[in-house]
Amino acid sequence: MKTISLVVPCYNEEPTIEIFFNTTEKVFEKLNNTHESNYYPNYLFINDGSTDKTLNILRKLHNSKPNIVHYLSFSRNFGKESALAAGLSNAHGDYVAVMDVDLQDPPELLLQMIDILEDPKQDYEVVGCVQTSRRQKPIRKFLSASFYKIINKMSHVRLKQNVRDYRLMTRKYINALLKLPEYNRFSKGMFSWVGFKTKYLKYEGVPRSAGTSSWSMFQLFEYSLEAIVDFSDAPLKIATLSGGLICVLSIIGLIFVVIRAFFFGGSVNGWASLVAIILFLSGVQLFCVGIVGKYIGKIYLETKHRPKFIIAERA
Ligand code: UDP
Ligand code: MG
Repeated sequence: MKTISLVVPCYNEEPTIEIFFNTTEKVFEKLNNTHESNYYPNYLFINDGSTDKTLNILRKLHNSKPNIVHYLSFSRNFGKESALAAGLSNAHGDYVAVMDVDLQDPPELLLQMIDILEDPKQDYEVVGCVQTSRRQKPIRKFLSASFYKIINKMSHVRLKQNVRDYRLMTRKYINALLKLPEYNRFSKGMFSWVGFKTKYLKYEGVPRSAGTSSWSMFQLFEYSLEAIVDFSDAPLKIATLSGGLICVLSIIGLIFVVIRAFFFGGSVNGWASLVAIILFLSGVQLFCVGIVGKYIGKIYLETKHRPKFIIAERA
């Protein structure tokens, strides 16, 4: 007998939880009909400070299946990353899956994922999922492609485009992942940083079973910036390099001005270009200070050693 913990973050997911649970239960039925060893699901829902009836639904579900359904309920909305951190550290299964509750991560894929991890001929520790054609607005698609290009250039970890958080992991992998204690969390990067042999399954993207996505364009942009700062120090290098380059250029300019004044006398001409140069340089300086500030902000948050989430209720 093996247990599979399913870590499922929920934020205002009143309409989707029961659909998710019923669909996944069917998948486990099929799994146990087609496989010799028995697999037990262990649902771990994380209520991320929902303002709708999500918590009530989770309580009801737990009362009807107290052995297999558990939940953690946060004291407020801490974000999906914190929900994942809470779920992963509280999941005790032999395998642990991370999945969304809106069925955009199809539970049927678990059948293939199990087969891959159980295959003794291959030593995969993780099976991840790549979504092939998610119907996205062209601008969103373009921004997403640009983000992956930039982060792969800037950081040591390799991120595949369209990889979802949805994955099944072995206990060995989870134990390694739990060694990463950071407060600023970007799961996709952390999953990749941990390493181990990973297999990716491709599947066609599907729309949400119900409800609406809680990510706005601005939030996605912010998330991308945070990810870059979390996993790369390239912006700091760019700031240093551009500062150095501008210094060299200004020394050349100074020599030119001194030689000109020496041979041709002083001139009051050129104040416009002078103002332009001053403005440009102040801009560059502010930009670089901003980048440095972003990193200092991250250090500040890390050194406070605050918990990543507060659990108000658990069952
Ligand atoms: N989610 C969460 N906290 C948040 C936002 C989202 O726990 O602050 C959960 C949400 O309930 C869902 C998953 O994260 O199970 C993915 O969210 P969503 O479907 O809105 O994102 P998308 O699929 O559009 O990337
Ligand atoms: Mg979704």
